[in-house]
Amino acid sequence: MIRVEDLSVTYAGATRPALRGVTMEVEEGELCLVVGPTGSGKSTLLGAVCARVPHFTGGLLTGRVVVAGRDTRTSLPRDLADVVGVVGQDPVAGFVADTVEEELAYAMEQLGVPAPTMRTRVEDVIDLLGLGGVRDRPLADLSGGEQQRVAIGAVLTAQPRVLVLDEPTSALDPAAAEDVLAALARLVHDLGVTVLLAEHRLERVVQFADRVVSLSADGTATSGDPATVLATA
Ligand code: ADP
Ligand code: ADP
Repeated sequence: MIRVEDLSVTYAGATRPALRGVTMEVEEGELCLVVGPTGSGKSTLLGAVCARVPHFTGGLLTGRVVVAGRDTRTSLPRDLADVVGVVGQDPVAGFVADTVEEELAYAMEQLGVPAPTMRTRVEDVIDLLGLGGVRDRPLADLSGGEQQRVAIGAVLTAQPRVLVLDEPTSALDPAAAEDVLAALARLVHDLGVTVLLAEHRLERVVQFADRVVSLSADGTATSGDPATVLATA
């Protein structure tokens, strides 16, 4: 579902590459964890997978990134919008509505999804992410973990095949982070969505991961099954 071949990225004006010869693969329905110290290129790798790098950031990209059969060199982020959903660190920054249900419906309204389908998908996402208790609540009253689950749910209503999450738990306390990560594991299991997840609190997520990509400070990567990669990291 995601294939990265010998990917190097150098931003304009940078003295060294942000990524250097990274090769990795994620099969459909797998959860792949991207780990590494700050500045090792985690966001750059995720950005390359959703085509934001280099189309939005500039810089020089060599190698190849293919997502669901589409080469990101020739696809803009909007061309991939039906395939790749992106969740950032701060859910509140992306909110456009007042309540949970309105937020979950918004993306589908923009896509022109018919009302009955929209209602079904909102219910599916509420069940899947355990948001039943807060569905009528203003987004501003939710806990951080609940807000992040709403943000993930809103992206899921467009039914992307790949979900890219850049440290979605970084602003959360441990219990809320656990909630969000368990919800992600359920998505992979129940929907077969392919997840690429950057996360620095390794101990919490490694139990859910099918694969790990470990980036080093110099932008090189080791990837494979979690036990092997983490034994050498
Ligand atoms: P991480 O997510 O692991 O912290 P990043 O991918 O954000 O790593 O950054 C990798 C390197 O690229 C860092 O040196 C960072 O300063 C640089 N970098 C990241 N984004 C940009 C950008 N848009 N323009 C220029 N340099 C960037
Ligand atoms: P189908 O799509 O054929 O109905 P699935 O097993 O793929 O069957 O989906 C089961 C339910 O989950 C459906 O109601 C569908 O709308 C919903 N669903 C499937 N994929 C996603 C997704 N990526 N995000 C949110 N809901 C989804």
